[in-house]
Amino acid sequence: MEIVPVNAFKDNYVWTLRNSSDAAVVDPGDARPVLDYLSREKLRLCAILATHHHPDHTGGIAELVARQRVPVFGPRNEPIPALTHPVSEGDRVEIPELGVSFSVLDIPGHTRAHVAFYGAGALFCGDTLFACGCGRLFEGTADQMFTSLSKLAALPDETRVYCGHEYTLANIGFAKAVEPDNRSLGEREARDRKARDAGRPTLPSTLGEEKATNPFLRCREPAVIESANKYLGSRVADPVRVFAAIRDWKNRF
Ligand SMILES: [Zn+2]
Repeated sequence: MEIVPVNAFKDNYVWTLRNSSDAAVVDPGDARPVLDYLSREKLRLCAILATHHHPDHTGGIAELVARQRVPVFGPRNEPIPALTHPVSEGDRVEIPELGVSFSVLDIPGHTRAHVAFYGAGALFCGDTLFACGCGRLFEGTADQMFTSLSKLAALPDETRVYCGHEYTLANIGFAKAVEPDNRSLGEREARDRKARDAGRPTLPSTLGEEKATNPFLRCREPAVIESANKYLGSRVADPVRVFAAIRDWKNRF
């Protein structure tokens, strides 16, 4: 099985899991680029996975299933179009056509019932964990998001991280403001800038790399705590409060 990005809108990725005959798509916000890819590659759609309800992740589902009835897996407690398999923490998603299965993780924060799919060494985390960043808190609390990110960070370092958007360079810019002395950030920036200049995605990253460079996974690091305190103008050390501070800072950055 191969995992390839199909571009949608300005910076969304519809991650497409495929072999030589079948394909499953994650978060098809737009049907058109997916249909184009499937027809160009002569692939049959076999499943749709949705991480959360936002239209830029689900807007193409209705049109895709209208052309071909396939199972649609998505969070039990969010309005996902044409949902056939509501899932939550502990459930498994089987895609027999691709010989792959995923476990479902509840990761609320960006939305109230956002899920991630983890399997085959890959993590599809929608708008919760981004390369060098994290999603905004639209429906959840800082506490929930911090717990969700900590759950993802507990997966093996070599896990490949497939996020919903290409936000990496902007995120690195913010991460450098939080941790100006983190040398891994400079290395990551040089490599990812080269990828973007060549028109390639910066994704997938790995969890190990996120743990070394993503400030939202580093809320216990003294340098991150220090920067959060400077931003707040007060002293906090609790990692959830540090997380909340840098999430708020990022919104204004
Ligand atoms: Zn979203």
